[in-house]
Amino acid sequence: MPAFTKTDRIWMNGELLAWDDAQIHVTAHGLQYGTGVFEGMRSYDTPDGPAIFRLDAHIRRMQMSASFYEIVMPYTFEQLCAASLDVVRTNKLENSYLRPLAFYDTNSFAVWPKECPVTVTIIAVPGRQYFAGDNGGLRVSVSTVRRIDASSLPPFVKACGHYTNSVRAAQEALRRGYDDAILLNNKGNVAEGSGANLFMVRNGTLITNDIDESILEGVTRDSVLQIARDKGIPIVMRPMKLADIELADEMFFCGTAVEITSIKEVDGRTIGGGTPGPITRDLQQTFQDAVHGKLAQYRHWLSPIGTD
Ligand code: PMP
Repeated sequence: MPAFTKTDRIWMNGELLAWDDAQIHVTAHGLQYGTGVFEGMRSYDTPDGPAIFRLDAHIRRMQMSASFYEIVMPYTFEQLCAASLDVVRTNKLENSYLRPLAFYDTNSFAVWPKECPVTVTIIAVPGRQYFAGDNGGLRVSVSTVRRIDASSLPPFVKACGHYTNSVRAAQEALRRGYDDAILLNNKGNVAEGSGANLFMVRNGTLITNDIDESILEGVTRDSVLQIARDKGIPIVMRPMKLADIELADEMFFCGTAVEITSIKEVDGRTIGGGTPGPITRDLQQTFQDAVHGKLAQYRHWLSPIGTD
Protein backbone atom coordinates (compact mmCIF):
# COMPACT_ATOMS: atom_id res chain seq x y z
CA MET A 1 0.00 0.00 0.00
CA PRO A 2 1.48 3.38 -0.91
CA ALA A 3 2.33 5.80 1.89
CA PHE A 4 0.06 8.40 0.32
CA THR A 5 -3.62 8.44 -0.52
CA LYS A 6 -4.57 8.68 -4.18
CA THR A 7 -6.74 11.58 -5.21
CA ASP A 8 -9.02 11.99 -8.22
CA ARG A 9 -6.96 14.26 -10.42
CA ILE A 10 -3.40 15.29 -11.16
CA TRP A 11 -2.57 18.47 -13.04
CA MET A 12 -0.31 17.55 -15.93
CA ASN A 13 0.75 19.85 -18.75
CA GLY A 14 -2.27 22.09 -18.39
CA GLU A 15 -4.91 19.40 -17.88
CA LEU A 16 -6.51 17.85 -14.82
CA LEU A 17 -6.04 14.17 -15.63
CA ALA A 18 -7.45 11.18 -13.76
CA TRP A 19 -4.82 9.96 -11.25
CA ASP A 20 -4.09 6.76 -13.22
CA ASP A 21 -3.70 8.63 -16.51
CA ALA A 22 -0.84 10.82 -15.26
CA GLN A 23 1.90 8.57 -16.69
CA ILE A 24 5.33 9.14 -18.22
CA HIS A 25 7.51 6.97 -20.42
CA VAL A 26 10.51 5.07 -19.00
CA THR A 27 12.79 6.87 -21.45
CA ALA A 28 12.15 10.22 -19.74
CA HIS A 29 15.42 12.10 -19.28
CA GLY A 30 14.32 13.15 -15.80
CA LEU A 31 13.97 9.51 -14.80
CA GLN A 32 17.27 8.46 -16.39
CA TYR A 33 19.35 11.35 -15.03
CA GLY A 34 17.32 13.08 -12.33
CA THR A 35 16.98 16.21 -14.45
CA GLY A 36 13.88 17.59 -12.84
CA VAL A 37 13.05 20.18 -10.22
CA PHE A 38 10.29 20.02 -7.68
CA GLU A 39 8.58 21.61 -4.71
CA GLY A 40 6.77 20.48 -1.62
CA MET A 41 3.93 22.70 -0.42
CA ARG A 42 0.99 22.33 1.92
CA SER A 43 -2.55 23.57 2.03
CA TYR A 44 -4.33 24.01 5.36
CA ASP A 45 -7.89 24.52 6.43
CA THR A 46 -8.45 28.11 7.56
CA PRO A 47 -11.54 30.11 8.61
CA ASP A 48 -11.74 31.30 4.96
CA GLY A 49 -11.54 27.78 3.53
CA PRO A 50 -8.46 25.84 2.42
CA ALA A 51 -5.39 27.88 1.50
CA ILE A 52 -1.88 27.10 0.26
CA PHE A 53 0.88 28.29 2.56
CA ARG A 54 3.48 30.54 0.90
CA LEU A 55 2.52 29.43 -2.58
CA ASP A 56 4.40 32.31 -4.22
CA ALA A 57 7.68 31.53 -2.42
CA HIS A 58 7.50 27.87 -3.47
CA ILE A 59 6.67 28.57 -7.10
CA ARG A 60 9.44 31.20 -7.28
CA ARG A 61 11.94 28.72 -5.85
CA MET A 62 10.81 26.16 -8.41
CA GLN A 63 11.36 28.68 -11.20
CA MET A 64 14.84 29.40 -9.79
CA SER A 65 15.64 25.67 -9.64
CA ALA A 66 14.35 25.23 -13.20
CA SER A 67 16.44 28.07 -14.54
CA PHE A 68 19.53 26.53 -12.94
CA TYR A 69 19.04 23.44 -15.12
CA GLU A 70 17.93 25.52 -18.13
CA ILE A 71 14.50 23.93 -17.88
CA VAL A 72 12.18 26.30 -19.70
CA MET A 73 8.82 25.83 -18.06
CA PRO A 74 6.00 26.34 -20.51
CA TYR A 75 3.85 27.94 -17.79
CA THR A 76 4.04 31.32 -16.14
CA PHE A 77 4.25 31.98 -12.42
CA GLU A 78 0.55 32.93 -12.44
CA GLN A 79 -0.43 29.76 -14.32
CA LEU A 80 1.53 27.55 -11.91
CA CYS A 81 -0.05 29.25 -8.90
CA ALA A 82 -3.54 28.91 -10.41
CA ALA A 83 -2.89 25.24 -11.26
CA SER A 84 -1.76 24.54 -7.69
CA LEU A 85 -4.96 26.06 -6.30
CA ASP A 86 -7.02 24.16 -8.92
CA VAL A 87 -5.62 20.79 -8.00
CA VAL A 88 -6.46 21.25 -4.31
CA ARG A 89 -9.94 22.51 -5.13
CA THR A 90 -10.73 19.82 -7.72
CA ASN A 91 -9.74 17.09 -5.32
CA LYS A 92 -11.80 18.67 -2.54
CA LEU A 93 -8.80 18.67 -0.22
CA GLU A 94 -8.32 20.80 2.87
CA ASN A 95 -5.07 19.85 4.57
CA SER A 96 -2.95 18.59 1.71
CA TYR A 97 0.61 18.06 0.54
CA LEU A 98 1.40 19.31 -2.95
CA ARG A 99 4.20 18.18 -5.19
CA PRO A 100 4.85 20.38 -8.23
CA LEU A 101 7.41 18.76 -10.55
CA ALA A 102 9.00 19.84 -13.84
CA PHE A 103 11.40 17.59 -15.70
CA TYR A 104 13.02 16.89 -19.04
CA ASP A 105 10.85 14.29 -20.69
CA THR A 106 11.58 11.74 -23.37
CA ASN A 107 13.68 12.45 -26.46
CA SER A 108 17.29 11.50 -25.91
CA PHE A 109 19.69 9.34 -23.95
CA ALA A 110 22.39 11.97 -24.29
CA VAL A 111 23.47 13.41 -20.97
CA TRP A 112 22.76 16.78 -22.48
CA PRO A 113 18.92 16.91 -22.49
CA LYS A 114 18.86 17.34 -26.25
CA GLU A 115 15.50 18.74 -27.34
CA CYS A 116 13.72 17.00 -24.48
CA PRO A 117 10.30 18.52 -23.91
CA VAL A 118 9.52 19.72 -20.41
CA THR A 119 6.69 18.01 -18.55
CA VAL A 120 5.10 19.79 -15.60
CA THR A 121 2.84 18.09 -13.08
CA ILE A 122 1.25 19.09 -9.78
CA ILE A 123 0.08 16.33 -7.46
CA ALA A 124 -1.92 16.93 -4.28
CA VAL A 125 -2.62 14.28 -1.68
CA PRO A 126 -4.18 14.45 1.79
CA GLY A 127 -1.66 15.95 4.20
CA ARG A 128 -0.27 13.84 7.01
CA GLN A 129 2.38 14.02 9.66
CA TYR A 130 5.82 13.28 8.16
CA PHE A 131 7.13 11.63 11.31
CA ALA A 132 4.04 9.79 12.50
CA GLY A 133 3.57 9.76 16.26
CA ASP A 134 6.71 11.73 17.06
CA ASN A 135 5.24 14.73 18.82
CA GLY A 136 7.62 14.18 21.73
CA GLY A 137 10.63 14.67 19.49
CA LEU A 138 12.85 12.80 17.08
CA ARG A 139 15.90 10.64 17.59
CA VAL A 140 18.44 11.60 14.94
CA SER A 141 21.94 10.57 13.95
CA VAL A 142 24.79 12.54 12.39
CA SER A 143 25.34 10.98 8.98
CA THR A 144 28.57 9.80 7.41
CA VAL A 145 27.05 11.13 4.16
CA ARG A 146 28.09 14.76 3.65
CA ARG A 147 25.68 17.34 2.27
CA ILE A 148 26.16 18.18 -1.42
CA ASP A 149 28.28 21.22 -2.11
CA ALA A 150 27.76 24.29 -4.29
CA SER A 151 30.87 23.44 -6.30
CA SER A 152 29.12 20.38 -7.75
CA LEU A 153 25.40 20.32 -6.94
CA PRO A 154 24.12 23.50 -5.29
CA PRO A 155 22.05 22.56 -2.23
CA PHE A 156 19.81 25.60 -2.73
CA VAL A 157 18.56 24.12 -6.01
CA LYS A 158 15.70 21.71 -5.36
CA ALA A 159 16.48 19.23 -8.11
CA CYS A 160 15.39 15.60 -8.24
CA GLY A 161 18.90 14.20 -8.72
CA HIS A 162 20.25 16.18 -5.78
CA TYR A 163 18.03 14.16 -3.46
CA THR A 164 20.02 10.95 -3.83
CA ASN A 165 22.20 12.72 -1.23
CA SER A 166 19.29 12.96 1.21
CA VAL A 167 18.12 9.44 0.40
CA ARG A 168 21.52 7.97 1.32
CA ALA A 169 21.66 9.89 4.59
CA ALA A 170 18.08 8.97 5.55
CA GLN A 171 18.64 5.31 4.68
CA GLU A 172 21.72 5.21 6.87
CA ALA A 173 19.88 6.86 9.78
CA LEU A 174 16.95 4.43 9.52
CA ARG A 175 19.37 1.49 9.27
CA ARG A 176 21.00 2.70 12.48
CA GLY A 177 17.59 2.79 14.17
CA TYR A 178 17.04 6.57 14.14
CA ASP A 179 14.21 8.68 12.76
CA ASP A 180 16.33 10.88 10.49
CA ALA A 181 19.80 12.17 9.75
CA ILE A 182 21.73 15.37 10.32
CA LEU A 183 24.16 15.99 7.46
CA LEU A 184 27.45 17.82 7.84
CA ASN A 185 28.72 19.95 4.98
CA ASN A 186 32.10 19.67 3.29
CA LYS A 187 33.63 21.94 5.93
CA GLY A 188 32.49 19.55 8.67
CA ASN A 189 29.91 22.00 9.99
CA VAL A 190 26.33 20.97 10.69
CA ALA A 191 24.25 21.60 7.55
CA GLU A 192 20.67 20.32 7.84
CA GLY A 193 18.41 17.27 7.87
CA SER A 194 17.62 15.01 4.90
CA GLY A 195 14.52 17.07 4.15
CA ALA A 196 14.48 19.92 6.64
CA ASN A 197 16.48 22.84 7.98
CA LEU A 198 17.91 22.73 11.48
CA PHE A 199 17.60 25.17 14.38
CA MET A 200 19.12 25.08 17.83
CA VAL A 201 18.35 27.10 20.95
CA ARG A 202 20.99 28.00 23.50
CA ASN A 203 20.42 30.34 26.44
CA GLY A 204 17.26 31.67 24.84
CA THR A 205 18.93 32.47 21.50
CA LEU A 206 17.84 30.83 18.26
CA ILE A 207 20.78 29.61 16.19
CA THR A 208 20.66 28.52 12.57
CA ASN A 209 22.92 28.36 9.55
CA ASP A 210 23.33 31.13 7.11
CA ILE A 211 22.58 30.11 3.55
CA ASP A 212 26.20 29.47 2.59
CA GLU A 213 26.50 26.38 4.79
CA SER A 214 25.13 23.99 2.11
CA ILE A 215 21.46 24.18 2.94
CA LEU A 216 18.26 24.47 1.01
CA GLU A 217 16.89 27.95 1.56
CA GLY A 218 13.76 26.67 3.24
CA VAL A 219 10.48 28.51 3.09
CA THR A 220 9.65 27.24 6.57
CA ARG A 221 13.06 28.41 7.83
CA ASP A 222 12.22 31.84 6.49
CA SER A 223 8.79 31.74 8.18
CA VAL A 224 10.30 30.61 11.50
CA LEU A 225 12.86 33.43 11.35
CA GLN A 226 10.11 35.95 10.65
CA ILE A 227 7.96 34.67 13.51
CA ALA A 228 10.95 34.66 15.88
CA ARG A 229 11.86 38.23 14.88
CA ASP A 230 8.29 39.32 15.52
CA LYS A 231 8.42 37.72 18.97
CA GLY A 232 11.72 39.42 19.76
CA ILE A 233 13.57 36.12 20.15
CA PRO A 234 17.30 36.77 19.61
CA ILE A 235 18.60 35.10 16.43
CA VAL A 236 22.16 34.26 15.51
CA MET A 237 22.97 33.03 12.01
CA ARG A 238 26.37 31.43 11.87
CA PRO A 239 28.01 28.14 10.97
CA MET A 240 26.90 25.46 13.41
CA LYS A 241 29.56 23.10 14.75
CA LEU A 242 29.14 19.57 16.03
CA ALA A 243 29.95 20.92 19.50
CA ASP A 244 26.88 23.17 19.24
CA ILE A 245 24.74 20.03 19.34
CA GLU A 246 26.31 19.13 22.65
CA LEU A 247 25.52 22.57 24.07
CA ALA A 248 22.01 22.95 22.66
CA ASP A 249 19.10 23.37 25.08
CA GLU A 250 16.62 22.73 22.26
CA MET A 251 16.81 21.56 18.65
CA PHE A 252 14.24 21.27 15.90
CA PHE A 253 13.87 20.53 12.23
CA CYS A 254 11.67 22.71 10.09
CA GLY A 255 10.33 22.15 6.61
CA THR A 256 7.10 21.97 4.68
CA ALA A 257 6.64 18.27 5.29
CA VAL A 258 8.00 18.12 8.85
CA GLU A 259 6.62 21.56 9.83
CA ILE A 260 8.41 22.23 13.16
CA THR A 261 9.50 18.96 14.74
CA SER A 262 11.47 18.86 17.94
CA ILE A 263 14.65 16.76 18.20
CA LYS A 264 15.06 14.99 21.52
CA GLU A 265 18.19 12.95 20.94
CA VAL A 266 21.28 13.02 18.71
CA ASP A 267 23.32 9.80 18.62
CA GLY A 268 22.30 8.80 22.11
CA ARG A 269 22.77 12.26 23.61
CA THR A 270 19.60 13.77 25.08
CA ILE A 271 18.91 17.34 23.99
CA GLY A 272 17.73 19.58 26.83
CA GLY A 273 15.18 17.77 28.96
CA GLY A 274 14.37 15.26 26.20
CA THR A 275 11.04 16.92 25.47
CA PRO A 276 10.20 19.92 23.25
CA GLY A 277 11.57 23.05 24.95
CA PRO A 278 9.69 26.31 25.55
CA ILE A 279 10.95 28.20 22.49
CA THR A 280 10.28 25.24 20.20
CA ARG A 281 6.74 24.89 21.58
CA ASP A 282 6.08 28.60 21.27
CA LEU A 283 7.25 28.64 17.63
CA GLN A 284 5.29 25.46 16.86
CA GLN A 285 2.11 26.99 18.24
CA THR A 286 2.47 30.27 16.39
CA PHE A 287 3.44 28.47 13.18
CA GLN A 288 0.34 26.26 13.41
CA ASP A 289 -1.85 29.30 14.11
CA ALA A 290 -0.30 31.10 11.12
CA VAL A 291 -0.77 28.24 8.64
CA HIS A 292 -4.36 27.77 9.77
CA GLY A 293 -5.13 31.46 9.16
CA LYS A 294 -5.69 32.33 12.81
CA LEU A 295 -3.23 35.24 12.84
CA ALA A 296 -4.04 38.36 10.77
CA GLN A 297 -0.37 39.29 10.80
CA TYR A 298 0.57 36.23 8.72
CA ARG A 299 -2.52 35.94 6.54
CA HIS A 300 -0.60 37.29 3.55
CA TRP A 301 1.27 33.96 3.57
CA LEU A 302 -1.94 32.17 2.61
CA SER A 303 -3.44 31.81 -0.87
CA PRO A 304 -7.07 30.69 -0.54
CA ILE A 305 -8.11 28.07 -3.09
CA GLY A 306 -11.40 29.92 -3.68
CA THR A 307 -14.47 28.40 -5.23
CA ASP A 308 -15.14 27.01 -8.74
N1 PMP B 1 16.27 21.12 3.39
C1 PMP B 1 15.99 20.11 2.55
C2 PMP B 1 17.10 19.24 2.08
C3 PMP B 1 14.67 19.89 2.13
O1 PMP B 1 14.39 18.89 1.30
C4 PMP B 1 13.64 20.72 2.62
C5 PMP B 1 12.22 20.48 2.21
N2 PMP B 1 11.89 21.17 1.03
C6 PMP B 1 13.99 21.76 3.49
C7 PMP B 1 15.31 21.93 3.86
C8 PMP B 1 12.95 22.70 4.02
O2 PMP B 1 12.47 23.53 3.00
P1 PMP B 1 10.98 24.11 3.03
O3 PMP B 1 10.78 24.73 4.34
O4 PMP B 1 10.98 25.10 1.91
O5 PMP B 1 10.06 22.97 2.80
